[in-house]
Amino acid sequence: MDSTAAVCSVCGATEEQQPLTWTVQSVRGRTALVCEACTRRHLRAMEAQLDEEHW
Ligand SMILES: [Zn+2]
Repeated sequence: MDSTAAVCSVCGATEEQQPLTWTVQSVRGRTALVCEACTRRHLRAMEAQLDEEHW
């Protein structure tokens, strides 16, 4: 696995480098990348449900 590649932890999308539009979520001490599309899709859920049970 290429350590420089960015992989969305939600949909599995990959980019050679982490785009600036991607966000980094800290989930239970781990770092998880979330792509732009998934960030938008989950924004409502993230705001409504602040605990990160679904991550
Ligand atoms: Zn994604």
